[in-house]
Amino acid sequence: MSPIPQIALTDGHRIPQLGYGVFKIPPEQTERAVTQALELGYRHIDTAAVYGNEAGVGRAIAASGLAREELFVTTKLWNDRHDGDDPDTAVAQSLERLGLDRVDLYLVHWPTPAADNYVHAWEKLIGIRDRGLATSIGVSNFLPGHLQRLLDETAVVPAVDQIELHPAHQQPEVTAFCAAHGIRIEAWGPLGQGKYDLLELPEVTGPAAELGRTPAQVVLRWHLQHGHIVFPKSVHPERLRENLDLFGFELSDAQVAAIDVLDRPGGAGRVGPDPTVFA
Ligand code: NDP
Repeated sequence: MSPIPQIALTDGHRIPQLGYGVFKIPPEQTERAVTQALELGYRHIDTAAVYGNEAGVGRAIAASGLAREELFVTTKLWNDRHDGDDPDTAVAQSLERLGLDRVDLYLVHWPTPAADNYVHAWEKLIGIRDRGLATSIGVSNFLPGHLQRLLDETAVVPAVDQIELHPAHQQPEVTAFCAAHGIRIEAWGPLGQGKYDLLELPEVTGPAAELGRTPAQVVLRWHLQHGHIVFPKSVHPERLRENLDLFGFELSDAQVAAIDVLDRPGGAGRVGPDPTVFA
């Protein structure tokens, strides 16, 4: 299997373009799932404090025997930890659960604009990075207005914005803003979380049949060809294997363009919460 490409971040660090996300994996199953993923060759794990499974990720990492520098671990600051010095406490707790002395990437999970405290949370993340507890810092679910405020008020550009992104919800305004400012896009829910008929659409099943690949591989390949960083979640070993095997084929420009037109503007294709109101 070809090696997973590394994407350069604007802060000079690098991130594997493909990883494994552990949202909704129950805590008691997480160690086993992550162990399986590491055995198959995944080296980038995306978790969050709110997933309740950082300890399982940590146990799998410790048991793997892999060198720390071979792994890329992301976790996230939850919405009720933005104020005062709480981000400092929250990152210390996450590191403790993960059994690590630093994460590779630490994210503000949601902007929660009604609380108006995401700029403060971002300032705290800058300190966390400066103290070496996170190699890179970024945000998640931030829209251009939120990102612009960070740039105006702190002048530190997030390394990534992790947003809901799949063919029905492509968020062109966010991706254009990020491209203009060197912010890399991480696509969460890359398979639409299985919440619509994405894997049955002819724009996906057609190329899958032509290329002898699965519909999920076609969608994940579409992400990679757009430069997105992805970490599809599965608890099934055969799907974990399938989702990693994306580097021995390519979609044509026409196949990519046919999937591009599946976008449903105005948020009509969104499957998760709306960042303008989610708290
Ligand atoms: P995904 O789009 O990765 O979809 C996961 C679903 O697709 C699961 O039901 C899984 O089922 C199924 N699936 C996985 N692989 C295949 C396959 N090859 N063929 C068919 N079905 C498949 O959604 P996620 O929400 O999990 O997104 C990925 C990651 O993004 C998360 O795990 C998390 O790390 C991150 N995330 C971040 C958010 C944020 O706010 N920052 C929000 C949500 C997610 P099964 O497990 O049964 O195989």
